Amino acid sequence: MIAPDLPTAISSLRDLIEEAHEIVPFTGAGISTECGIPDFRSPGGVWTKYQPIPFDAFMSDQEMRDESWRRRFAMEDQFGGAKPGRGHRAIASLYRAGKVPGLITQNIDNLHQASGIAAKDIVELHGNTTYATCLDCGERYELPWVRKKFENGNRAPDCDCGGYIKTATVSFGQAMPVEAMERAEKLACNCSLFVAIGSSLVVWPAAGFPLTAKRAGATLVIINREPTDFDDLADLVVRDDIGDALGPFIAH
Ligand code: NAD
Ligand code: ZN
Repeated sequence: MIAPDLPTAISSLRDLIEEAHEIVPFTGAGISTECGIPDFRSPGGVWTKYQPIPFDAFMSDQEMRDESWRRRFAMEDQFGGAKPGRGHRAIASLYRAGKVPGLITQNIDNLHQASGIAAKDIVELHGNTTYATCLDCGERYELPWVRKKFENGNRAPDCDCGGYIKTATVSFGQAMPVEAMERAEKLACNCSLFVAIGSSLVVWPAAGFPLTAKRAGATLVIINREPTDFDDLADLVVRDDIGDALGPFIAH
């Protein structure tokens, strides 16, 4: 069912949330747009400006590694100060109320952690862009360190072990993190309410989790201002602004 208007959407959401024992939110870039971080697929989104750098290009070409870090530093200057929005804060409220055993996100912006959800309860399917790791030995590097090195040498620095240093994100063509996929699968299979928020649901395998949850018996809600391929499957579709739809669920 598509909610006919925002008040009806909020009241249906309230009923579903009250009834549910275990709510698993699944978030995409749309939850962070009100924080000033553009999504990929809205008109004028990042997608239209930059071609993503696939993993094999990063691995095989120093110029691609340099370009990838140049973009990352430009992003930091634009979005580094972003704060959690109403959607993040509403989820954090439900989490504090004991209703959310864990959260699955496609986002890499660290805003769920910033909203007060413990890192151990956040499954990041696509990693995290607020720090970096060596692709060979796993050593963690902080962004200011990488930036200083980059600016001194005008090249992306390598690890002492010789490995390449990359933001801790999953690029196109890079293997999905096995443990995160398993944890997400478990959360999706064991919840009573699964809420997909701000995802176009076209990036696989992440987009499969709403389907998994529904097949396992959960009630499925999709909150996204544009239609998705899974809307027909959902018990409730909310095509409104995420902050407007979830704002009433922030506990003050
Ligand atoms: P997407 O860009 O494909 O889809 C975002 C969806 O959110 C769109 O369908 C759009 O209509 C909707 N939307 C945007 N703002 C909204 C709002 N205020 N209210 C309601 N709906 C809104 O995003 P995706 O599905 O997450 O896939 C993109 C991939 O890119 C992800 O895998 C993610 O890793 C990455 N990404 C992450 C960030 C981030 O961390 N903030 C930003 C851009 C891209
Ligand atoms: Zn290393």
